[in-house]
Order: sequence, then structure tokens, then C-alpha cells
Amino acid sequence: IPEYAFIGRSNVGKSSLINMLTSRKSLAKTSGRPGKTQLINHFIINKNWFLVDLPGYGYACVSKSSKKTFQKFITNYFEQRQQLVSAFVLVDIRHKPQPIDLEFMQYLGESEIPFSIIFTKADKLKPKAIENYVNDYCQELLEFWEELPNYFVTSSSKTIGKDELLDFIGDTNTEIEGLRNN
Ligand code: GDP
Repeated sequence: IPEYAFIGRSNVGKSSLINMLTSRKSLAKTSGRPGKTQLINHFIINKNWFLVDLPGYGYACVSKSSKKTFQKFITNYFEQRQQLVSAFVLVDIRHKPQPIDLEFMQYLGESEIPFSIIFTKADKLKPKAIENYVNDYCQELLEFWEELPNYFVTSSSKTIGKDELLDFIGDTNTEIEGLRNN
């Protein structure tokens, strides 16, 4: 079963996004308190793919050593998952490109793990501001990437971007299936 990993800084809106995608209200617990997804959660969607909920990284209040353990935990996951098709890196659409996110994308690139970006909390900005933000973000990415990754603009509170994301995953699964059957 193909799996897709969702990851981002704590409080980026990952639990809310997962709840939007799974259409359930209280599956992944949301809260204003950062750093609460401690373990890897798997959700099976439509009986044909796994959504993998990885712990949030990079919140300020953890010690250096527990940060290291955390990183190890996450890199272990990426090194070992055979079924992983793609990762989604979540980014809060109100924040300028953060070194920790850019570094993480760099890590995925070096590990040859395909990824897309999900800009979250789009309801917080007006359409024009979203466009500017995304353009600026892409400009920054182009400084060290030759090609831009796919990206999605979402809001869990206004249900924006849900169908696009699910369609993208559905299409990717169909492609994989096609490759397997040939
Ligand atoms: P996580 O730590 O990444 O799992 O983030 P949560 O899903 O728990 O969300 C963190 C905070 O952001 C909570 O207060 C949510 O209510 C809020 N939040 C999450 N998604 C959205 C969104 O799409 N729009 C708005 N306005 N707030 C959001």
C-alpha cells in the first residue's frame, strides 16, 4: 500500500489538515500546544493508501539532545519506509521561509525522496497576499533548486485545497498501479 508522509513544524496545522483529509473531527487531536504529536500515526484512506502523520519538528522549547533524538526518529522513518511515495512538507502561509523547513526539504532532496509543499492556513491571507507569498517562497526555493516542487494552498478551517490534494494522491496512486501492471 502506497504511503504519503505529512510533516512540518509544530503548530503548522498538520492535525487539522489530516482531519480535513480524513473528514473526521477528532482523529488527530489538534491543540494550540506545540509538539504534541510524539509518535508516528498511520491512517488508512479509502482502503488504498496510508497517510502517515510524523511528529512536528523544530519547536523552540526542547533541549538539544531531545531534538537530536527527534531528528534521528524522523530520518529513521525516511530511511526505512519502502512504501513511501512522497512526503508533504507543511508550511504556515504567514511565515517567511524558515531555515528549518528549507533544510528539511534539502534533506529530502538529497535522500531522493519526492515531496510537495503544503501552504497551510490560507484563510488568514487575502488572495492577492497568497499569490505574493507563494511567488516569494518559490523565488527563494529557486536559489537552490533547479525545479520547483508541487505545491498546494490549503485551509482546514475553510476547507480549501482538500480535493486538489486528494486528487493528486489518487492520480499518483493510479500511476504507480499502472507502472506495476506493466
Ligand atoms: P499541528 O501542531 O501542526 O498538528 O497543528 P494543529 O492542527 O493542532 O493546529 C495548530 C493551531 O492552528 C490550532 O490552534 C488550529 O486551530 C490552528 N489552525 C490549523 N489549521 C488552520 C487553518 O487552516 N486556518 C486557521 N485559521 N487556523 C488553523
